Formats: sequence, structure tokens, C-alpha cells
Amino acid sequence: MDGQELKKGAKLICAGLLAHADAGKTTLTEQLLYLAGAIRKAGSVDDGTAQTDWLDVERRRGISVRAASSRLTLGDTAVNLIDTPGHADFSGEVERSLGALDGAVLLLSAVEGVQAQTKLIWKAMETLNLPGIIFLNKIDRAGSGCKKVLSQLTREFPGSRFFPMQSVRGEGEIDAAVSGPDWEDSSFQEHLLLELADFDPEMEEAVLNEEQPPLPKLQDSLKRAVAARQMTPVFFGSAKTGVGCRELLDGMVSLLPPASQDTDAPLSGLVYKVEYDPVMGKAAHIRLFGGKLQNRDPVPVLGQEEPEKITQIRRRMGEKAQDIGEITAGDIGVVYGLSKIKTGDIIGAEPVNRACSIAAPLLQVQVYPEKPEELPALVEALRQLSDEDPLLDLLWLPEERELHIKITGVIQLEVLEELIAQRFGLKAAFSKPTVIYKETPAHEGIGYESYTWPKPCWAQVELKIEPLPRGSGIQYESAIKEKQIFYRYQNHIKTSVFQNLKQGVYGWEVTDAKITLIGGSHHTIHTHPLDFFVATPVALLDGLTKCGSILLEPMLAVQMTAPEEVLGRVLGDITAMRGEFDTPVIANGEFTLEARIPAADSIDYPITFRSLTSGKGLYSTRFDGYQECPLELGKTCPRRGVDPLDRAKWILWARNAITG
Ligand code: GDP
Repeated sequence: MDGQELKKGAKLICAGLLAHADAGKTTLTEQLLYLAGAIRKAGSVDDGTAQTDWLDVERRRGISVRAASSRLTLGDTAVNLIDTPGHADFSGEVERSLGALDGAVLLLSAVEGVQAQTKLIWKAMETLNLPGIIFLNKIDRAGSGCKKVLSQLTREFPGSRFFPMQSVRGEGEIDAAVSGPDWEDSSFQEHLLLELADFDPEMEEAVLNEEQPPLPKLQDSLKRAVAARQMTPVFFGSAKTGVGCRELLDGMVSLLPPASQDTDAPLSGLVYKVEYDPVMGKAAHIRLFGGKLQNRDPVPVLGQEEPEKITQIRRRMGEKAQDIGEITAGDIGVVYGLSKIKTGDIIGAEPVNRACSIAAPLLQVQVYPEKPEELPALVEALRQLSDEDPLLDLLWLPEERELHIKITGVIQLEVLEELIAQRFGLKAAFSKPTVIYKETPAHEGIGYESYTWPKPCWAQVELKIEPLPRGSGIQYESAIKEKQIFYRYQNHIKTSVFQNLKQGVYGWEVTDAKITLIGGSHHTIHTHPLDFFVATPVALLDGLTKCGSILLEPMLAVQMTAPEEVLGRVLGDITAMRGEFDTPVIANGEFTLEARIPAADSIDYPITFRSLTSGKGLYSTRFDGYQECPLELGKTCPRRGVDPLDRAKWILWARNAITG
């Protein structure tokens, strides 16, 4: 491995490799690292020697479960390459990595084409305005259909323009090859010019005047169109045979936008990943957008009072690492010494448009230690793990002595079990995963609480609750002036509303509602500082009960491809699972089908589907929002803790717990 240092004035690119599972990301990363001279020999996923898959479970199962970063240098350009997991269970890791990127290579298999996970990633790239190029991989495999996948892309992502940069020969054969991009070729230039003319007035004028602009102008125009997401160039190849990988690497370096490297800008960074190093402790992977960070610098983290100091800064190359002493704007690095750091933390000024949500943990499980005396150690272990993966949303109920976490799928659980065993030496067991329902008010209502007894206390709260359309989430507003309720108490009300929306009338999190503080009062003498934390939950639950609740269940958009003879059975299964389906598309003895199925009824269906199709079928899912569910088909969730509607008991308990 060479120094990979960034020369002065050199260009820097932070690019991600994004794809559905098995598209060939890890294989491609090996090729790119090898081509750039960062490793001497490309490792193989199939032999368990890939640089970036170094957790035991990754090598054993042949899947990547975490994002891994590598650095490669090509001429004057350094590329930080983040290889992300493709399996839907680890979308949380993809979501977090997206915030660190300036561009992406979206990988598709030319055999399997657009998958549910591809659509999810594309949507996230749109939300973040993240430019990309596409690599159609596996052109050497039987069944490769580049033309078919290109038209599928255009159909699935309307409004986006895909431009093939190369032509493919011998597709579907072991010696499949690519030619181009041939910049000198006049017909390639003409094609490109015609495409660019739709976005670039200068190119449009050239077309009208029947002129061919000089090549550098054409290339600059293409770069601008890529950066603005007006065009997505498509490259072709085989990560396995190495065909097309060099061209892709050149394409990345020349077409993806460089990072802004303004070290004079105010410090601004994002912790896109936290891991644990057995020797060094917490390792925070940081993307810096402005300023710089050096060894021994105190790091200002949003929401943290006392900044902690950096003890070391390293650069990662798969399993290996090298000391670099500082990170400058635009770059990424791994920072040690920050014991309180969590994934998603912001350093300095908040970066713009770096957050998106593609992962939705739809399942919850209870975690038990195999040996009861290990419960405290297990709580601590899960606390550490949820600093790394905040979507686990750890819930520890000390009175009930229960631990609950949220997960995206059962493979994630298998990985967690192994991590807990390896890292903490603990054996954990899990309950059967159950679906996470939500609830929403059925109609408008008002909740009220007057907490003025037993003295000394005074907090009156009146809340209006209104239903909002599906997918809106929660909105909160105050219609009350400072003289009626001091702003500091209004803040308590707001905080308490959000805390207590976690458990509605059916015991599930309340969503799609607007809560407005419309009345109430404080008392300048009697109000005790935390009285509003006692009164607000009662007012909220009073209101929610009056509104009536509707149960909501998570839905999955499912995409299936399988031999035609099982179509009848699959359609019957979808109906039995309360799902709906679109007209199946049948070609070459196979059908492709899109369906929308409640998650609760289809948790185990991938297993049934696999045996039904003798492993030949493709089954991919993505979360597709919450939908109303009849109470008798769903589930309520037992209330945890004291019920605020059991008012007398609640007040006694809350006075002790909150104010005592
Ligand atoms: P990932 O899950 O996207 O990281 O995909 P991997 O790199 O682990 O590859 C999945 C499987 O596809 C492995 O068995 C690879 O050997 C195989 N594979 C990857 N790229 C190609 C390719 O271009 N052609 C062929 N024939 N197989 C490939």
C-alpha cells in the first residue's frame, strides 16, 4: 500500500459503491483497488479474501454487512471509496454512508437488472441530489441483457436520462468485452452533443448551427450535466473478469464531482459511522465538509457540552489503517478518543442536505441474556451497539428488566448475535420478531389536564389533536403566548408530547398527527419547575383517547421473478397474505411481478418462495409506507410503565420519578 497522501492542489472525490445484494460490489472494489495499485492482487469474495469484507460473518456468508472505506490514488486525483452493504437488512448502514458522499457508482447486475433495493437507493440519491454513474456488471454471465436493463432504467426512473458510454461485444459469454468510451469517435461525440443540447444552451446552439464543439467543451458540459443529475452515464463490464473496470475508474475520476476542499470554511463534519476497535476504543468515521481536524483538537459535537479531544486520526484501507494526524475539508478519516460520539453526530456547523431516510426497521425483538446474571453486561453491550447503529433504538425497561430493539430483518439479528458473542463474550437470545405497528388519531379531539393538586404544583395543559395524511409524521405547534405559559414550560410540554407519542392508545407510536398547544396556564408562585412533565402526558393521552385510534401496519413493495409454472401458486399466496399485485410480465418462461403485501403476513415468505422456486426465484422487498389495518387483524402492544390515564397513580409515580 503506498502513502495515499493527497498532494497539494490535488483533486479529491468521495464516492460510494451502491447496489442491491450480489450485484458484485465487493468484487468490483477489489478490482478498482488493484487497478489503482493500492493492493497487489485482487481478492475474491468466493474465497473469502476480499479486502473490505473482513468480519468473520462477512467472509463466511459472502455478504457485506458494513460500509468499508478505502483510498485509491490515480494521477492527481485521490478517491475515497465507500463500499456499502447491498442486503436490505443493512440499509441503515447505506443511509448513513450516503451523507458522506459527493457522488456514487450505482451497480446493477446486467442479468438481474433493477431490483427493489436499486429503486430505494435511486430515490435516496434523488433526495440528496447525489450525482451518479451506473455500472452494468456481469456482462459475462449467461442471461446478461444490457439493452433490456437500459430500457428498464428509463421506465423505472422517469425524468432521468441514462447515456451509454460504451458498446458491448459477446454479451453473456465468458469473453464478453467492451469498447469505448471513444472520445475521438465522431459519432460518439454527435450522440453526446444531441443529449447535452437538452440541458446546455451552448450545446443547443452548436446543434442549431450544425457545429461540433471542441472535445474539452463537450466533456465539461457532460461533467456539469452529471453534477446536476441531468444525465447519468452508463458503463458496462465484468468485475469478475476485470473487463470494463479500468474504464469505469477513469469515468469516476473524470466525471464525478470533486469535493470542496475549503479548509478556511467553518468546521463542519458528519460522523457517518462509529465502530469499536478492541485496542483503540471507539472509532468515529468522519467526513469533513469545512475546516480541519488535527490530533489533540477538542471536537465540538452538536448537543454535547464538553468537547472531547482527538487522540489519533487514521485512514482506513479495509482491515488495515495508517496514521494521518489530520483530516482536511473534503476528506474522510477515522478519529479516536471521542468516547461519547454516536453515529449521525454533527461536528461544528451542520452540513446542508446530508440526511435521508431509506432504512425502516419494521420488526422488534426482545433480547435476553442466556445467563440471567449477564443482564447488566448485555444492557451495556447493546448501549454501545446502538451508539454505532441508532436505528436499533434500544429500549431498556429497568422495572420490567426488559430489553427491546428494532431490526430490519432476520439476517441482521444473526449478525448481532455474532457481534455480541465475539466482542462482549455474551450469549444473547432473541424473541421471535414481531412487526412494529403504528397508530394515528381517527378524528380531531381535545385533551386537557389541570394538575393543581396536591399542592405545591400548577400546570394546566390543553392540546388539540388533528389527524394528518399518511406519511406526514408529527407536527407540533404552540398557539400560546409567553405570558400565559412561560416559554421554558412550553418547551417542557413539547418535549413531553414527543416522548409520550411513543405509546398511544393501542400502545404503539403515534404518527400522522398535528398537536397544537391551545390552552393552559402556569402559576408564578405554585408552578414547580417540572410540573408540566407531570401534566402533559395526561392531557395528551386524554386527547388521544377522545380522538379514537386507527391501527397502521407497515407495507412492503415486493418484486419477484420466478419460473412461470409457479405463478398461480404465488398469486394465490399473495392474496392469502392480504396483498395486491400488478399484472405479471412473462418472458422466456419466467414471470416478473410487483406486489404490495403487509409486512406482518410476509415475514417468512422469502423462505417459502425460495423452496417453491428451488432457489431459482428472485425476491426483493422495500418498505412502502404504513397503511390502515383492521384491529382484529393486527395487534395492540402492552403499555410499558405507568399509564397516565390512571391519573392518581400516574401523578404519584411521576412526582417521585420526575421531581423526586
Ligand atoms: P456484492 O454482494 O454486491 O458485494 O457482490 P459480490 O462482489 O459479493 O459478488 C456476488 C457474486 O457474484 C460472487 O459470487 C461473485 O464472484 C459474483 N460476481 C461478481 N461480479 C461478477 C461478474 O462480473 N461476473 C460474474 N459472472 N460473476 C460476478
